[in-house]
Amino acid sequence: MSHYQAFLEGGDFPTPIGKIVCLARNYVEHAAELGNEVPEEPVLFIKPASSLVYPGGQVEIPAYSNNCHHEVELAVLIFQRCKNVSVETAMDYVHGYGVAIDMTLRDTQAKLKEKGYPWEIAKGFDTSCPLSIFKNKYEVGDPHNLGIQLRVNGELRQDSTTACMVRKVPEIIAYVSSIFTLDAGDVILTGTPAGVGPVHSGDVMEAWIEDVGSLKVSVK
Ligand code: MG
Repeated sequence: MSHYQAFLEGGDFPTPIGKIVCLARNYVEHAAELGNEVPEEPVLFIKPASSLVYPGGQVEIPAYSNNCHHEVELAVLIFQRCKNVSVETAMDYVHGYGVAIDMTLRDTQAKLKEKGYPWEIAKGFDTSCPLSIFKNKYEVGDPHNLGIQLRVNGELRQDSTTACMVRKVPEIIAYVSSIFTLDAGDVILTGTPAGVGPVHSGDVMEAWIEDVGSLKVSVK
């Protein structure tokens, strides 16, 4: 059992964080900046709970990479086991929203993509998933109309809106739950907008999503 807990503002969410299912290429401008097309079927990968970093923590770039990128993403916390849910009922399984950074070893990922290998060592390494506390969904407006930003050392690097997501949260949950049973404490990352870029030792990242909150972590 993981010892990583999902923290909900105003009180603990009593379930450990399980798997973190991530969507790739869900914002058109970000797919384009990496020379990718938005895929017809969603592209999914999983980060283990051991990848989590809480607010105020540190990201440690593995020695095998020289190009670690930030990707700010809206995180969705699931609070009830579900499988094969419909788009219409998907939101019933959402507890709340958080701010996540999908830390990605871009050089490692490029090599893996070239060979057709899985992305895990580029995406799921220890400290690859900084995550904020969660805000209850009833305190957040339309999750598809929220400002989303990331600053490095105070400089604005990513600045967009979740309105630019290609696949919306209910559709994502319906699809993900058709592949993986979702359990209470599982988290879904919904993709990043344009503006991804490298971070280096000593950098401070501040991610923010309107209504949801902010998240500050440093790079060791
Ligand atoms: Mg991502």
